Amino acid sequence: MQNDLYDVIVIGGGPAGSSSALYTSRAGLKTLVIDKDPHAGALGMAHLIANYPGVPEALSGMELLELMKLQAVSFGAEYLRDKVTAIDPDGEVKSVFTVSGKFFRTSSLILATGAMGKNSEIPGEKRLVGMGVSYCATCDAAFYRGKEVGVYGKNRETVEEALVLSRLASKVIVLCPASKLSVAEDEASVLLSEKNVEIRYHSKIVAVNGDKELESVTLEGVEHPLPVDGLFIYISGSAPVLDFIGGRLDTSQCGCLKVNREFATSSPGVFAAGDMLCKEIKQAVIVAAEGCQAALYADKYLRGRQKPNNDYR
Ligand SMILES: Cc1cc2nc3c(=O)[nH]c(=O)nc-3n(C[C@H](O)[C@H](O)[C@H](O)COP(=O)(O)OP(=O)(O)OC[C@H]3O[C@@H](n4cnc5c(N)ncnc54)[C@H](O)[C@@H]3O)c2cc1C
Repeated sequence: MQNDLYDVIVIGGGPAGSSSALYTSRAGLKTLVIDKDPHAGALGMAHLIANYPGVPEALSGMELLELMKLQAVSFGAEYLRDKVTAIDPDGEVKSVFTVSGKFFRTSSLILATGAMGKNSEIPGEKRLVGMGVSYCATCDAAFYRGKEVGVYGKNRETVEEALVLSRLASKVIVLCPASKLSVAEDEASVLLSEKNVEIRYHSKIVAVNGDKELESVTLEGVEHPLPVDGLFIYISGSAPVLDFIGGRLDTSQCGCLKVNREFATSSPGVFAAGDMLCKEIKQAVIVAAEGCQAALYADKYLRGRQKPNNDYR
């Protein structure tokens, strides 16, 4: 495997990477996907996915990932469990180095390592992820129809996600750790105009409580825990996973990888897709579509085509 020259190496086997691998392997390109640990990706952490088109039964993120991988493998893609520590993106033949000491050569690269939440420090939070604790109202709001939820944070994402929840939950309590939300006043007033939304300032969560599922949150300086059915946390945000790039590719001001409309990075033959790119909406269906496009543009690059191949075989 190590001495071979690949047509495409995909770094990251989440929905963006596996979708890329499906298209490149199906196009007859020799494809290797290197993924450090599917459980560590955003989809791998998702408890229930009920909004992926064509998959009507809700299934876990890991189950959906396994289906995507099986489909790519059925067309010849190889998968390797390893962590990429560095790449050399320049020249016609690119290099990939892994933590286990392996080295691979490839004619093109598709980067799809996603974005990761910064570590949380609230006791109990990690244990109850998927059992009441969530980071994505767009994904999970439907599970809280008619229920009372907390939304923790002060940024724009907090406000937007609280609005999404206000359409389904019976009550939304925004727990803002500061004296005000860090959004423009008119944005905050849109939120306050919702009858079922309450904002509590100076509310710092010090513990997330519950045995098998979330029951309440403890607020600093408040004697009795606040009962909630769901807690949506936007306190730390997430950052694109770019550590293995070593500054060799252009990034945007907000820290995500820069690509053009063909999903090409600043180095010819290196493409990228998924949550590592700038985007307002992070959803599996969106990144899978990006993975498809990155793959078709990689095929165009490798085969010197004038246009991507849109042949529906
Ligand atoms: C809790 C939660 C629930 C969600 N629920 C939904 C939902 O219901 N519906 C929906 O559509 N979307 C949902 N999302 C969003 C969706 O999961 C993401 O938008 C999507 O997974 C992003 O895909 P990606 O392929 O870009 O990255 P990821 O899914 O994060 O995959 C990146 C992969 O790259 C690997 N990787 C990272 N660094 C390296 C490295 N150096 N070397 C090798 N491999 C590496 C990771 O291990 C991972 O497997 C949810 C997200 C979260 C966090």
